[in-house]
Amino acid sequence: MTGRRIVFLGPPGAGKGTQAELVAAALNVPHISTGEMFRDAVASGSELGRRAQEIMEAGDLVPDDLTSALVAERIAAPDAECGYLLDGFPRTGAQAEALDAMAGGTVDTVMLVEVDEEELVRRLLKRAAESGRSDDNEVTIRRRLEVYRDLTEPLVRLYESRGLLRRFDGVGTVEEVFARLMLGLAR
Ligand code: AMP
Repeated sequence: MTGRRIVFLGPPGAGKGTQAELVAAALNVPHISTGEMFRDAVASGSELGRRAQEIMEAGDLVPDDLTSALVAERIAAPDAECGYLLDGFPRTGAQAEALDAMAGGTVDTVMLVEVDEEELVRRLLKRAAESGRSDDNEVTIRRRLEVYRDLTEPLVRLYESRGLLRRFDGVGTVEEVFARLMLGLAR
């Protein structure tokens, strides 16, 4: 069994959020989703929420310093002492650096959930039609995919060079993908 400080990496629409939640529950570590933290902040009408809302609706990234500070505080909480699963963080080189510098921020495993672009767009458009998420519309979807390619995808190579990356096929039912991830982690 690998260590329990895990990063989930993958493009929007890869099913990362759903799987991250399941894997975190199975490993009994907190699921820390920056997207969720920002959505909660928007819903609460806090200062952070007001700053994040417009950025999220455009499909852009909330500034690195703000995001990293939020994660640093969260992983310092007692429930994250024995591990955590980061979902949607880091998303830029600066965030990866910030994570390295955080107390307890040395991650053990980076799980990359891969789905080809055509399937991603199909899934995201379907979700856009069904969900109430205000950042799920066609223009924002394209922008989020572009942001992933430009800013987040380079992290794949970074973690690969550190020997921490594990690739997983994200195509299949929720149960199939979950089984694949758990099997991979057990190795
Ligand atoms: P997600 O639920 O992970 O797709 O995140 C939804 C939105 O929240 C993103 O499109 C960004 O606007 C914002 N967000 C989430 N995580 C981060 C992050 N690590 N850095 C900057 N912005 C983020």
